[in-house]
Amino acid sequence: MSEKSTFAAAIVAWQRQAGRHDLPWQNTRDPYRIWLSEIMLQQTQVATVIPYYQRFLASFPDVASLAAAPVERVLAHWAGLGYYARARNLHRCAQEIMAVHGGEFPRSAAQLQSLSGIGRSTAAAIAAFAYGERAAILDGNVKRVLCRVFAIAEDVSRAAAERALWQRAESLLPAAEEMASYTQGLMDLGATLCTRRQPACARCPLADSCVAQREERQHLLPVARSRAKAPERQATFLLISDGQGVLLERRPARGIWGGLLAFPEAEAAQFLPQLGVEVQAVCSLPPLRHVFTHFVLQIMPQLCRVSAPPSLLREGEYCWLPFAAAAQAGVPAPVRTLLTSLPAVWAAADQSPPA
Ligand code: SF4
Repeated sequence: MSEKSTFAAAIVAWQRQAGRHDLPWQNTRDPYRIWLSEIMLQQTQVATVIPYYQRFLASFPDVASLAAAPVERVLAHWAGLGYYARARNLHRCAQEIMAVHGGEFPRSAAQLQSLSGIGRSTAAAIAAFAYGERAAILDGNVKRVLCRVFAIAEDVSRAAAERALWQRAESLLPAAEEMASYTQGLMDLGATLCTRRQPACARCPLADSCVAQREERQHLLPVARSRAKAPERQATFLLISDGQGVLLERRPARGIWGGLLAFPEAEAAQFLPQLGVEVQAVCSLPPLRHVFTHFVLQIMPQLCRVSAPPSLLREGEYCWLPFAAAAQAGVPAPVRTLLTSLPAVWAAADQSPPA
């Protein structure tokens, strides 16, 4: 039996018997629902995605409603999922589908890939699930499975090695009618059996043909790429509050947390005089670390106690929100953490004499 038929047949049979069948984005051929799940699942685990996916669909049930929504509302539904460029691209992609494709998703992976935020692997997943197209996926989980089964010991972050992996992935595809089960099976296997640290080879349908398992090299594959230590950046966040409300700033569309609300990132001595507020005290709070893909942000929060809301706010750029409303707004995770603790921090600071 050929490598291709053994590999695909084992995955399809396993998926039908032991794979996941009841995730909220399964059992549909609706490209909108499939697309949404594929974007949310990038860099994010299934259990985290499920409640976001359900809330998102309740508010934006189809591509037309998503395209018509203000981007701020879309970002508010995404708040906490991270990697916010995904949400902005999702919104832009919905608008492209309405404007260029008459509200219908393109029906091929090649066309899907031309839309904002849809890369080659995501386009293939949508086309395989929605239309049964024979297009290969190759995300991090699939790379790990292929490297182990075929003992590929090259650094797959290098372009030539990645090209070879794409070719390998394409050479393994089954017939069109099995594409949905195969694609889902490959995803399930990478996420639940062939995990990074402790692969469950005893339960794996590929165990008989897996070179890494035979040679006990699972822990050596894929080869780890040598990474430089992530650089650190520092940012001062001003938590400007009168004990009831707090000042938030709309971040520029480009850059980290683009379009979300966050605390002003500035030096207190320069920023506060522009607001037209009476400042009672400024005190430093414990720092917070937030890890991004390419750097670590060291957040230095400062509580700025003011007597009343600022009178000189530039509309659209800043807003003053009551504590509860601020915590519900579209804010990134570390801002939400600080907002949640703000009433208690304020109350504690209120007990101490002004600095
Ligand atoms: S046998 Fe083990 S290492 Fe090989 S694909 Fe399966 S889980 Fe991964």
